Amino acid sequence: MQLLMMGAPGAGKGTQAAKLVDKYKIPQISTGDMFRAAVKDGTELGKRAKACMDAGQLVPDDVTIGIVRERLAKADCANGFILDGFPRTLAQAEALTKILDELGKKLTQVLNIHVPSEDLIERAIGRRICKNCGATYHVKFNAPKVADVCDACNGELFQRADDNETTMKNRLSVYENSTRPLIDYYKAEGIYSEIDGRQPIDKVTAELFKVLDGMK
Ligand code: ADP
Ligand code: AMP
Repeated sequence: MQLLMMGAPGAGKGTQAAKLVDKYKIPQISTGDMFRAAVKDGTELGKRAKACMDAGQLVPDDVTIGIVRERLAKADCANGFILDGFPRTLAQAEALTKILDELGKKLTQVLNIHVPSEDLIERAIGRRICKNCGATYHVKFNAPKVADVCDACNGELFQRADDNETTMKNRLSVYENSTRPLIDYYKAEGIYSEIDGRQPIDKVTAELFKVLDGMK
């Protein structure tokens, strides 16, 4: 299964992708995670990405397409993958179609988690991530049992630098201008499903499983 998780920043893509990884045993490919890892490692890619991320702007298409092209060619993607946070522009969507063509693959389904913009700032500001295993929590909607400690591995939780109100406003406006138009692109391909992301996490997961299991 070649899946694409769409949705505005904070809609729940990463949270749900982790559930799909567990069930379908295919890797999650998050360009945001890849850029954060590069920033942490202090690589050239990380230095380039950091300024864009801190400003809530997109990393340039050529850089982003390059890392996805390399990642999708890896052996663990042979039986499928879940793209999370890519594509975010029309140029990225067109490049993805071309990359998949070259690999002899096609997207199976695009899953768009829809959450109204008024909820998204609260979701991002309350987001906490485990430094050790990357699990995602929310201080109010999905709180860990012990504050700032990961339930799964006891790792320390942190808040992303770009999860603040000012940056989030920029990210939402970038989403509206550059990413939302991709909905029509994938609707035209006939592989688009929309899920109401305002529901509790487990309900959203159940709806995603229903869509995907219905395709088999
Ligand atoms: P994205 O990957 O789309 O940016 P995340 O999966 O990281 O979004 O979720 C953003 C924040 O919202 C996290 O703190 C997460 O725990 C929380 N969250 C995710 N899904 C829901 C939901 N259905 N209801 C309430 N909060 C949610
Ligand atoms: P995310 O983790 O998906 O919220 O992404 C965090 C940040 O990484 C974004 O605000 C962008 O600066 C950058 N980023 C992630 N994915 C992409 C992409 N597909 N294209 C351009 N920039 C991206």
